[in-house]
Formats: sequence, structure tokens, C-alpha cells
Amino acid sequence: MPVVIIGTGLAGYNLAREFRKLDSLTSLFLISADDGAFYSKPLLSASFSHGKTAQQLCNSSSEEMSRELYAEILVHTRVILIDRLNKTLTLQQEGSEHVSKILYGRLILATGAKCRKLPHYEGDAHTDIFRINNLRDYHRFRTAVTGRKRITLLGAGLIGCEFANDLIQAGFAVDLVDLQAWPLATLLPEVAGRDLQHKLTNYGVRFHGETSLKSIERSNSGLCAQLHNGDKIETDIVLAALGLEANIGLANMAGLQVQRGITVDRYLQTSDPAIYALGDCAEVDGHQLFYVAPLIACARVLAQTLNGQPCKVHYGAIPVAVKTTLHPTTICPPSPTAEGHWQVAHDSSGVRAEYRNRNGDLLGFALTGNAITHRDRLSSQCRPIMD
Ligand code: FAD
Repeated sequence: MPVVIIGTGLAGYNLAREFRKLDSLTSLFLISADDGAFYSKPLLSASFSHGKTAQQLCNSSSEEMSRELYAEILVHTRVILIDRLNKTLTLQQEGSEHVSKILYGRLILATGAKCRKLPHYEGDAHTDIFRINNLRDYHRFRTAVTGRKRITLLGAGLIGCEFANDLIQAGFAVDLVDLQAWPLATLLPEVAGRDLQHKLTNYGVRFHGETSLKSIERSNSGLCAQLHNGDKIETDIVLAALGLEANIGLANMAGLQVQRGITVDRYLQTSDPAIYALGDCAEVDGHQLFYVAPLIACARVLAQTLNGQPCKVHYGAIPVAVKTTLHPTTICPPSPTAEGHWQVAHDSSGVRAEYRNRNGDLLGFALTGNAITHRDRLSSQCRPIMD
């Protein structure tokens, strides 16, 4: 009975690679709603300034991956139903009514995350807002901005700041809008966030804090974005980076336990012992982390488990380099429930912020500018995410 992986993002392909290092015989299927190209998703928010096309971001086609992994890869194929009793998946090919079935021995969900639904905006152009969460989106957006100059970005979180950094360097005029007072406000203390804000502003990004989009109308010269604080932005394109949510629909329909993500234990096992999950779709022992490092750790241990040596995942401290190259920033956010306070040291070259509890234990940190040199030392001292 084959091992079947749903999803060919970094989670699905990393798992397949790790599994093949241990087992070259068991038949392996990967199923993907997209074209199955192997690419590095983090590059989507750092490639405009390098003039990269979607094609150039693709490292290997599904055919190449199929040869590398001795696996069958079904592309443009959506899994629409999991029948756990009969260990059968129902598949539907893109653009076709026709459905087919496939059996699995063990099933791995690597279905990723999708952009959160946008709030309702007034105006006749509210459907023209772009999002970028895969290569196809990147291609659509890149095509749409050709010959345009002005971009309004909604959301100054990790991905929004990276796009601001990238698009300003690609020569666009960038307005960055966020509900919070400073960029990366949920991840950085104010001093560090303001530091990043000033650097982006120095390079030309116009930051509109503590406000949000009210309406978006077509105008003679492009679009007019009206903010709740009264600001009006004449713009050509609006790109939203307002967060992601795990793709849990399929798991939910199959009666698997889900919360914010598909609930799995540290063996990456769902509430069904034949089904596992990893990557953006999974909530691992209560942790939902939309980053690459955790999914790589999960892929390594899950490959061993699938190979008959059950192995638990362990997350240490996970520092993430935000790709704001104009002002390098590294975050290692404390858990939302961690009790402590920020201790901040800063000068004109950057900010070092350490989140410590009463006993002085390091629970998280944030570094900007030259202070990123403290990353390795602080990572080794920082409390791991999982004990
Ligand atoms: P995805 O890449 O979303 O893959 C999901 C797969 O599932 C796709 O192949 C999809 O077609 C398939 N699928 C879904 N549903 C079905 C179905 N029903 N049937 C068949 N197939 C299905 N992380 C970092 O650590 N550092 C960064 O700098 C960073 N930058 C980022 C920048 C951007 C712009 C974005 C969007 C994310 C960034 N991330 C970053 C996050 C990181 O890229 C993700 O955590 C990671 O790529 C998730 O991989 P995944 O395989 O879980 O999901």
C-alpha cells in the first residue's frame, strides 16, 4: 500500500526527499492542486528587485521531481474527499468534472495555508486586490504591475514588510498600511519596529500606521484607496498581505481533529493513526508556525516514523531572518503566553531586544541592523519552543 502525500510545497517535497533517503522501495505518490513545480516559497517576497520571473523561481518541474524521488506525482489534481474507512482518496482533475480514486496505506497531509479572507471594503475595485501565496499568484501580480509605478501594500507583518523592501528596491512607489502603530508590531517591540520603519521610510516607503483600508475605487489615473484615518492614496495596484490560515477543510471533512491547524502530536500523527500532517497545515503539539525551519524538522522525523522507527519532533528556538535587506531583521518571538518583558539596547546601527522572564531566562528576541550578529549567541541561550 503506497505512502501518499497531499501537497508539493516545501513540506510535501522535503518529506518525500527525507523518506527516499531511508526507503527507496515503497511506492510513493504525491498529489498537488498546483503544477507540482519545486520552488522556494520565501523567495516570492524577495525576487521582484532581482527581476525574477515565476519560471526562473522554479527549481525543478514535477517531472524532474518525479524522477528524483521515484514517485508518481499527480498535478493539477485536487483531493476532494478522504474515506478513512476504506483508505481511499477521491481526486478531481482541474477543469474537469471527472473524479477518480486512489488507495493509500499511510497518508500525509501537507496542504499548506491560504491567505485569510479579506475584510469587506467599499468601492468598485475591491475585487482587484492581489495576494501572493504561490508561484501562480506571483506570476499574475508580476504581469499586472508591468508598466505600473505605484503599489499599496495592506499589512506590515513579516510578508508585507518583505514585499515593501523588495518592491521599493524594484523601483516602485510603495505605500504600506497597517492597523498597528509600527511594522511587525506583533513580533517586535516598539523600538525595533520603529527602527525598521525609519529605515524603510528613508528608502521611500510611505508608512500609514494605526489605520486600514476603507474603500478602493477605480479612478482616471488608476485606483484611489481611501483609509479610515482620512488619507487618500492614488495607486495602481493593491497587494494584501494580511495573514494566512491553515488549509484544514479536507481534514475537517474527514472527521480528523482540527483546531487552528490539523491537530498532530509530536510524531506528526493526526487523530487517525494512518494519517499524518506537517507544514503550514499542521498544528504540532499546540504550535502553529508558518516557517520553513519547523517543517524541515518535521520532515526529518516523520520520514523515520514512516520507515518504522517512530521519532518525535523537537523544536528548539527558531530564529527567522526577515528578508528586509535594507535593514536586516531577525525575530525569535516569545510564545504568546510567555510572561516576561522586553529589555532593549539600541544605537544608530540597530536594536537588540531580549524578552526575559523574572528569573532572567531568555524567552525570545528581536534584532535589527548590526545587532543581528547576536543571533547565534542568543539562539543558543533561548528557551526552546518544545521542552
Ligand atoms: P504550501 O507551500 O502552501 O504547499 C501546499 C501544497 O498543498 C500545494 O502544493 C497545494 O497545491 C497543495 N494542496 C492544498 N490542498 C490540496 C488538495 N485538497 N488537494 C491537492 N493538493 C492540495 N518562511 C520562513 O521560514 N522564512 C521566510 O522568509 C518566509 N518567507 C515567506 C514569504 C512568503 C511570501 C510566503 C507566502 C511565505 C513565507 N514563509 C517563510 C513561509 C514558508 O514559505 C511556508 O511556511 C512554507 O513554504 C509552507 O510550505 P507547505 O508545503 O506547508 O505549504
